[in-house]
Amino acid sequence: MQSLEQIFSLLLQPRKVVITTHQKPDGDAMGSSLGLYNFLIQFGHSVTVISPTNWASFLNWMPGTKQVLDYERQTEEADKAIDAADWIFCLDFNTLNRTKRMEQKLENATAQRILIDHHQEPQTDKFAYGVSDTTKSSTCEMVYDFIEDSGYDDKINMEIAECIYAGVMTDTGSFRFPATSANVHRMVANLKDKGLRQGPVHEALYDNFLENRFRFLGNVLLNRMEIFYEYNTALIAIPQADLIKYNIKTGDTEGLVNYPLSIQGIKLAAIIIDRGEERKISFRSKGGFDVNTFARTYFNGGGHFNAAGGQSKESLDEVVALFSKAMTENKNQLSNYQF
Ligand code: 5GP
Ligand code: MN
Repeated sequence: MQSLEQIFSLLLQPRKVVITTHQKPDGDAMGSSLGLYNFLIQFGHSVTVISPTNWASFLNWMPGTKQVLDYERQTEEADKAIDAADWIFCLDFNTLNRTKRMEQKLENATAQRILIDHHQEPQTDKFAYGVSDTTKSSTCEMVYDFIEDSGYDDKINMEIAECIYAGVMTDTGSFRFPATSANVHRMVANLKDKGLRQGPVHEALYDNFLENRFRFLGNVLLNRMEIFYEYNTALIAIPQADLIKYNIKTGDTEGLVNYPLSIQGIKLAAIIIDRGEERKISFRSKGGFDVNTFARTYFNGGGHFNAAGGQSKESLDEVVALFSKAMTENKNQLSNYQF
């Protein structure tokens, strides 16, 4: 993988570009994709953003979402764009299998793949150019760096600023996680200088839920959460029947895993959601417990030190049992709580 700087001088020649990201894109995945989209279209490139799957409706306010193709629903159109592409930007994922059904298509594409990502252990041999930096707060911060380093700060408009701010804000837990560097704050200061209004972005993301999602949250905290004080751990396990009963859609479960971390002493929070086709698992930790390794070791997953995920084809009960086993095997680390 050659450095990203190699493409700076090529930006002025119009190309066919595809931008893609991980399945079930979150704020950072969608924000970085659309931030880059709104940048590249200013050069006259023909740009298609493809999401491997659908996404949460609370991201639909982002400038450019209407143009985003859902690979599962618009496969033919998306395949055509991939076949015609000169460049395929791969944002906010480290391994091609994070794009689910698009994996093979990306693997076989003749276009040059370009990586911009902050996850651990990327498949660098799959990319012609790119940057991988696990110290970065978010892929949005890296897209901002790309724009700055290529010398086009003047092209940062409100569309770009809102997308980038949304992704950085969500991936840093509203600027609280350790990766929130001084550079992140300098970036936000620059976006503010350009006229960014952050209030509407927060409202669009956090004050925009339907009643059913709140009733669901009540049910989850009351009936589906278990606390293991001797392990400083909380587990939420959600059966598929709950998702049906409360009419839960993509994105409605995002952020639930963070709630137990607000309980005094809780160091590890996990959520297992029975999505029918698979069980999706998310982990969050505070301080020195490495959930990336935990997810890799037990749940076919990965991610970051304090935020990771995995999945399983086993039943919900079996995944809960596996979690109990994993927690027990990590008792020493979990019991000796240190920030
Ligand atoms: P979330 O829990 O929000 O789905 O994901 C937290 C972090 O872990 C994200 O950075 C995400 O990319 C990563 N992650 C989530 N699920 C998986 C997975 O199944 N495999 C890998 N390698 N990473 C995951
Ligand atoms: Mn990210």
